[in-house]
Amino acid sequence: MVKVLKFGGSSLKSSKNIKYVLDILEQYTLNNKVICVVSAVGDTTDQLIDAGKLALKKNEAYLDTFNDIKKKHFDLVVDLIPQDHDEINLFLTNKFSNLKTLLEGIYLINELTPKTLDKLTSFGEIISSHIITEVAKISGIESVCVNSQELIVTNSKFTNAEVNYDLTNKNIQGYFNTPQQLSVLPGFVSKSQQGENTTLGRGGSDFTASILAAALKVKQLEIWTDVSGIYTANPKLVKQAQPIDTLSYQEAMELSHFGAKVLYPPTILPALDAEIPIYIKNTLHPKDQGTLIKLQPDASSGRVSGITNLDHIALLSLEGNGIIGIPGFSKRLFEALASAEINVIFITQASSEHSICIGISETDAELASEIIDNIFEYEIAKRKLKPVILEKNLSIIALVGDNMKNHQGTSGKMFSALGKNNVNVRAIAQGASEKNISAVISKTDVKKALNSLHEVFFEVNTKQLNVFITGVGNVGQRLLSQIQQQQEFLKNELRINLRVMGVSNSKRMFFDENGIDLQHWQSNLNNGQTASLDGFLDKIKQFNKRNSIFIDITASEDVAKMYAQYLKNSISVIACNKIACSSDYKNYSQLKSLAINYNASFLFETNVGAGLPIIETLNNLVASGDKITSIQAVLSGSLNFVFNNFTTSSKFHDVVKDAQKEGFTEPDPRIDLSGVDVARKILILARECGYKINLEDIKNEAFLTNKNLKTDSVEDFFSTLKEEEPYFQSLLHSALKNDSQLKYVAELTNGNAKVGLREIPKDHPFYNLDGKDNIVMFYSYRYPKQPIIVKGAGAGADVTASGLFSDIIRVSNK
Ligand code: ADP
Ligand code: ASP
Ligand code: MG
Repeated sequence: MVKVLKFGGSSLKSSKNIKYVLDILEQYTLNNKVICVVSAVGDTTDQLIDAGKLALKKNEAYLDTFNDIKKKHFDLVVDLIPQDHDEINLFLTNKFSNLKTLLEGIYLINELTPKTLDKLTSFGEIISSHIITEVAKISGIESVCVNSQELIVTNSKFTNAEVNYDLTNKNIQGYFNTPQQLSVLPGFVSKSQQGENTTLGRGGSDFTASILAAALKVKQLEIWTDVSGIYTANPKLVKQAQPIDTLSYQEAMELSHFGAKVLYPPTILPALDAEIPIYIKNTLHPKDQGTLIKLQPDASSGRVSGITNLDHIALLSLEGNGIIGIPGFSKRLFEALASAEINVIFITQASSEHSICIGISETDAELASEIIDNIFEYEIAKRKLKPVILEKNLSIIALVGDNMKNHQGTSGKMFSALGKNNVNVRAIAQGASEKNISAVISKTDVKKALNSLHEVFFEVNTKQLNVFITGVGNVGQRLLSQIQQQQEFLKNELRINLRVMGVSNSKRMFFDENGIDLQHWQSNLNNGQTASLDGFLDKIKQFNKRNSIFIDITASEDVAKMYAQYLKNSISVIACNKIACSSDYKNYSQLKSLAINYNASFLFETNVGAGLPIIETLNNLVASGDKITSIQAVLSGSLNFVFNNFTTSSKFHDVVKDAQKEGFTEPDPRIDLSGVDVARKILILARECGYKINLEDIKNEAFLTNKNLKTDSVEDFFSTLKEEEPYFQSLLHSALKNDSQLKYVAELTNGNAKVGLREIPKDHPFYNLDGKDNIVMFYSYRYPKQPIIVKGAGAGADVTASGLFSDIIRVSNK
């Protein structure tokens, strides 16, 4: 049986890879006659073009590139043919001398026409095919090198020549009448009827193999490369991409036209005409199944088969009220572009908007806009049409699949995934056949867009969350260790892939795109770059990852001021810091709207009661249509600790001092004792109930005396506490006399909030509140008599960290 195999440049880029190629050839030649098409070694074609361009620019560095190419090939020969390499060395010496002469010619005459370019690039395949033939001979395979330039006949469209199939097929069928055990042929190269060197277009070795396979009507065509088939997306950009088992010719065509470089688009036609299935296989993992392209792919293939990206796109937009009235508008436009050989990749027209948009390769952009402005010069002068608008640095992303038309909502799903991840779509096209839905987006968004779409269409179950933490004190450290401990569980049980990509303290910041190793985050951070608030945001923007979450565990006003910018970039914000939510109402409500408008979350559960689900409970009541009539709460762990320990035999001053020492109060205990902290918390709850109030609107019935409040330093404050001991004792005595406990209570009734010290009687739920516990009672229309009560530890690093963790999970559930 005759087999046609093609090995790409990636399969030949090192002697190690070529040994894999040989293993495959040895295997195949045991029972078959093998026709083996090879590309140039590695990136030789790119290097040849570079050398040519340097020579053209009179830059002598072309010689360095030439020498690199030469050395690379001689090194391969030394590695692969240890003895008897005179013949191949002579061949190479000869070829490289011709190549050098050609480059010198370009250098001297300052010209690199497409015709010369084809002569230049042909060297890559001509040389590689000879090396592979010699290597095969050494391993005992009866081999011959066949020059495909003598078989494949084209027109003279240099660099992208069109095949004359009548002549070509005759040549191939004639030559391979009695094939050798192994025939090695250079891909990509051909000759015109006039005998000039031509080539079949970049990536064209695949095409050579397909032309041979079709002419000889073989059973199948095998394309061997460095990946295990055509993947659901470019595996270099989407880690989760998987090889696609089977594809129809049409799907493969769409995928390759729209950027799946693994297969050169014209390859498919000869195979399709002759109904020859194409296998894409991995040279380095020959046992992998690979992708099979055939007429009817397996029914199991999904409705969306793959996602591709095509970079270096320019968008030309033509707009004007007069478009409809311009006779033969589209005809004139496309004819002019076609006559300049400009390939139009993408078209959208919205007649109601009187505009048309076309996507072309960036290299054609300037020429195309000049041509268009010229042909519509008259209409532009008459203001029927605006001059063409040119935008660059764009890419096309496309969803491809034969069966998409049978499934509703595919494009809805596509654009909502892009929108959610803040990928701005510049233009959309969907053919009537619905095998392809494409969108033009900014080049910088490609990776994020591909990954978001891949997640939605192929990974339905796993969600990637990318976390960036600023402030790694007590709470931050607990959070990092909780995340480390839970990562596996989240992945396996909740299908959440949670990784911390950035951490920062006030001095340093550290990032790792693949997720920071949480065992060593501290040492990495110590050696990280100098921290800056803008730098942290910039880096997150640069990563441009979907589902990015910024977590603020500082008490800094400057950090809180950054939230708006995060949200505007669709980065969710989780705040432990209370400043933003208790700042001016306008700021709070602006942050809430930004979160909605930019599809991000803004969460701050830990602002009230640390890890207790207080805000969540409130949000759920409000969202389900209940109305809160009143909230009563003890929200300060610090004040609770102080009043629980204050007895007739202790001194108020000493109790406060102890609380400060134990870390149960802020370093400046006045913040807790003045009631400001509690006021902020009830303010946040009131706002979440829907009341538009500010901190000044909250009545703060301070229990401290004027003397206490007017102190300038913490030290002074403590000495006034001593002086006022009889007053504090009197507060306590009154409570005891009434069989009550002292508690600092926050209340909200019909939008009016106040905080103050209260005597709590024995039968009240607040009476038995231990240690640092918090308690909140929600009265609502649905809970008028028996309130919902949330109670538990309301302070501490571990519980606060776990509150932040719940907010992270909440972002993922959104
Ligand atoms: P060869 O040298 O074998 O011709 P190419 O470099 O032309 O190989 O094509 C293989 C490369 O195509 C892969 O390494 C991968 O980076 C790229 N590629 C882009 N999109 C896809 C896709 N959807 N599936 C597989 N590979 C892809
Ligand atoms: N060597 C040529 C190129 O790099 C053809 C190929 O590799 O298929 O474009
Ligand atoms: Mg290729």
